[in-house]
Amino acid sequence: MRVLVVEDEPDIAEALTWGLRAEGYVVDVADNGEEGLWKARESPHDVIILDVMLPGIDGYQVCRKLREQGLWTPILMLTAMDEDLDHAEGLDSGADDYLAKPFSYPVLLAHLRSLTRRTLGARPAVLTAAGLTLDPASRTVTRDGVALDLTGREVAVLEHLMRHKGRVVSKTELLDHCWDVAYDGGPAVVEVHVHRLRRKIDSPTGEPVIVTVRGEGYLIRDNVA
Ligand code: CA
Repeated sequence: MRVLVVEDEPDIAEALTWGLRAEGYVVDVADNGEEGLWKARESPHDVIILDVMLPGIDGYQVCRKLREQGLWTPILMLTAMDEDLDHAEGLDSGADDYLAKPFSYPVLLAHLRSLTRRTLGARPAVLTAAGLTLDPASRTVTRDGVALDLTGREVAVLEHLMRHKGRVVSKTELLDHCWDVAYDGGPAVVEVHVHRLRRKIDSPTGEPVIVTVRGEGYLIRDNVA
């Protein structure tokens, strides 16, 4: 899951970045509206956290412009406390959800999970495939009920594949959603992580969970329970 944080207050931006990365999210940050617009268009994000009060163009304008340009990434707006008008304007400008500052961290994370669930066809809180379960809330993965020891990046890659079960996911797409803009290496890093992931998730007796589709990418089949 890749998140864009548009927030001009350095303390809040830093705390959000640190906290979200600890939860396994890939995080890009913009400290003003123009930069936020640019970064939102430049790379695909799964969700955007957008502060309302920003220098230059404010959060409402950023939101409107993105929607006018046909960019439908879910947007969580951060507003000042108890400003009902803010909330109405935020939703009218095309935001999907809002959260009043100051907010508690667990509540923010729950809003993000809810938003990313809403944008997919199926909305399971816990993802399943081939005896595996992945809980996005706790970042834990189990196989046949036994917890597996995966790194944050491995969980991120597996989560993206499981969320798009039944469709081939390219290495470029995995790079876009599981690595941030600061990473400038090529798709070989994806191969390395998928290789390690397979060693941990594949059962010694069963079929491989992640199928390689030559020249296209990776697939977790839809018909695996
Ligand atoms: Ca602000």
